[in-house]
Amino acid sequence: MLKGKTALVTGSTSGIGLGIAMALARQGANIVLNGFGDADGPRAQVLEAGRAAGIKTGYHGADMSKPGDIQDMMDYAAKDFGRVDILVNNAGIQYVSAIQDFPVERWDAIIAINLSSAFHTTRLALPAMLAANWGRIINVASVHGLVASAQKSAYVAAKHGIVGLTKVTALETAPTGVTCNAICPGWVLTPLVQKQVDAKAAEKGISNEDAKKLLLGEKEPSMHFTTPEQLGELAAFFCSPAGDNVRGVAWNMDGGWAAQ
Ligand code: NAD
Repeated sequence: MLKGKTALVTGSTSGIGLGIAMALARQGANIVLNGFGDADGPRAQVLEAGRAAGIKTGYHGADMSKPGDIQDMMDYAAKDFGRVDILVNNAGIQYVSAIQDFPVERWDAIIAINLSSAFHTTRLALPAMLAANWGRIINVASVHGLVASAQKSAYVAAKHGIVGLTKVTALETAPTGVTCNAICPGWVLTPLVQKQVDAKAAEKGISNEDAKKLLLGEKEPSMHFTTPEQLGELAAFFCSPAGDNVRGVAWNMDGGWAAQ
């Protein structure tokens, strides 16, 4: 379905970004990975997922809190892959604290990585997408783009912000072949959430399994985690012909979290 297209997925060396990169690779898209830590392992997994389609992969280690790095990454993708057809803004971090104790530098980092980076990638990717009259921009927001939780001021502000950016991008591109939508996951058991499970287990003096149940029980009626694979398939749907007129939605996959 996506043979000949190139997808750039930020924060794809782990978790949800890697799941989305693999799903798009299975559909035949070339993939540009980004993120910290080991890149060779994730790159090999993505290449394997797209082996039947003969895809090409690339990697750029841009720090998404730095507009200059983002410019370099977009230049690299344009030079080596021609154009970014599918942009997945996924890189994100979390920090949990009451507002009065929230470290200012953590606030700034979360807003830069979880929100401003998507503005920069979008403004840099749009001209080529509009010239080709085809493009997909998928913003990985969160159920926290729709509802709030205590202790997550920067994260909730950034995620509500990215849902707003999604709507504006969708409106500005509405008469064209470019679409923009957001994905709003509930709990997904990635390193980002495992840290919160560990903190809960330590705080309550309970096992890892009990801490997971507690976390799910507080918010997610289905009582199970959404997987990166399921989120990848939703991203693939947005890229399919059936997704041509899906514009500006914030689509939750949250086990009923936001329905309460
Ligand atoms: P993760 O920690 O597994 O992956 C985060 C990725 O972002 C990694 O590849 C990491 O290297 C990269 N990254 C972090 N800071 C970066 C930076 N400055 N520059 C470039 N890359 C950077 O986390 P995840 O759970 O897969 O989260 C991915 C996205 O999904 C985030 O935007 C997160 O807010 C969102 N999300 C996660 C959940 C969940 O339950 N895990 C729920 C809703 C939304």
